[in-house]
Amino acid sequence: MARDFAADILDPVAQQIVSNVGTWVDKEVKPVASEYEHADEYPVPLVKGMSDMGLFGIKIPEKYGGLDLSFECYAGVCMELARGWMSLAGIINTHVLVGYAISEYGTQEQKDKYLPMLVEPQIRCALSITEPDAGSDAQAIKTTARRDGDDYIINGQKMWVTNGQRAGVYLVMTKTDVTAEPRHRGITAFLVDAGTPGFTSGKKFDKLGYKGVETTELSFDDARVPATQVLGGKEGSGFQHIMSALEVGRINVAARGVGLAQAAFDDAIRYAQKREAFGKPIFEHQAQQLRLAEMAMKIRAGRLLTLDAARKKDSGVRSDLDAGIAKLYSTEMCQEVVLDALRIHGGVGYSKELPLERYYRDAPLMVIAEGTSDIQKTVIARQIVKDYPV
Ligand SMILES: Cc1cc2nc3c(=O)[nH]c(=O)nc-3n(C[C@H](O)[C@H](O)[C@H](O)COP(=O)(O)OP(=O)(O)OC[C@H]3O[C@@H](n4cnc5c(N)ncnc54)[C@H](O)[C@@H]3O)c2cc1C
Repeated sequence: MARDFAADILDPVAQQIVSNVGTWVDKEVKPVASEYEHADEYPVPLVKGMSDMGLFGIKIPEKYGGLDLSFECYAGVCMELARGWMSLAGIINTHVLVGYAISEYGTQEQKDKYLPMLVEPQIRCALSITEPDAGSDAQAIKTTARRDGDDYIINGQKMWVTNGQRAGVYLVMTKTDVTAEPRHRGITAFLVDAGTPGFTSGKKFDKLGYKGVETTELSFDDARVPATQVLGGKEGSGFQHIMSALEVGRINVAARGVGLAQAAFDDAIRYAQKREAFGKPIFEHQAQQLRLAEMAMKIRAGRLLTLDAARKKDSGVRSDLDAGIAKLYSTEMCQEVVLDALRIHGGVGYSKELPLERYYRDAPLMVIAEGTSDIQKTVIARQIVKDYPV
């Protein structure tokens, strides 16, 4: 269990759940994570463990069979999963995010159809925004959905879709009006079931890190999808719905940054007390004490920012500023802490025998996915300036 996880910073229910997940991570995940990661193998028993704990239904309302816990609790759980293996927090990310979008914005028919299936989960979810020519500038997507009677016909290419092969339902961003101004008014989100004719999942990317979970291309070639699969039932609201769901994704990624940094710190402070140089443990050299103190401070700051963003989301108000700040800080901090942990380990930190090299390869994903650090800064700047009208 992470030493920094002070009981008083989480509400009691969340604390109990997070503590249980932390115990499971120490026992079941830490001993096997690097083995799965080096083999780039989907961790079936670990995913089953997460499912047995109800984590896939953590944000699904109780009336559909879910746990309906707070975002604060979810953030704490993601920190603990990432402390064991960052990919595990990635596996539930788009599932929870899409479940949230359906609960919050779906039609009653969509809620009744999907939410009970997401609890166990009988099916898993993926989110598909990014395309070969549109990433940060999501409104530049070229995938189109054209109305045809009671259906829409979707055409286009998507890429970088996490859970892209194993998902049962995909929340897909499309354009239903390519001439709309502002552009977001022409964007519509669809719930596309796996197996829809004309819809295929393609190449799996070979990645630097974030292994074990597949990230793929998707292709839509005259894929016919019923109009009842438009999220919320109305054209033109897709951008707003997906941006709101991305606040959940950014809390997840911020939490991953905190959890991964905590794992690196835990290893570093233990090693620093065992390894000797110049006649004493390296921890006794003040330069290392200062380094470790800074690492602990940064992790604490990231944890508090992330929980703060989660609590804001729990309050039901728009929280892109808070989620953006938490993600920006925690993921950039994670890179620094992981590198410092490597420095503390000296040469052995560079070996594949220790998990440090895995942390080092996993850390950069988080400054890219769910919006790069530059994009978080633009989101933050857009919000903060509103408080200073001139
Ligand atoms: C492993 C992995 C998993 C992913 N999973 C998913 C997923 O499940 N679903 C999904 O839809 N996408 C997913 N993505 C895609 C991810 O969200 C995008 O890669 C990310 O948003 C950046 O887009 P891009 O790669 O097109 O970079 P670009 O948008 O081309 O950006 C390139 C560089 O330009 C900078 N830049 C761009 N615009 C600006 C600006 N206005 N101001 C300043 N700098 C700017 C960026 O910060 C970046 O440094 C995943 C990516 C990875 C690597």
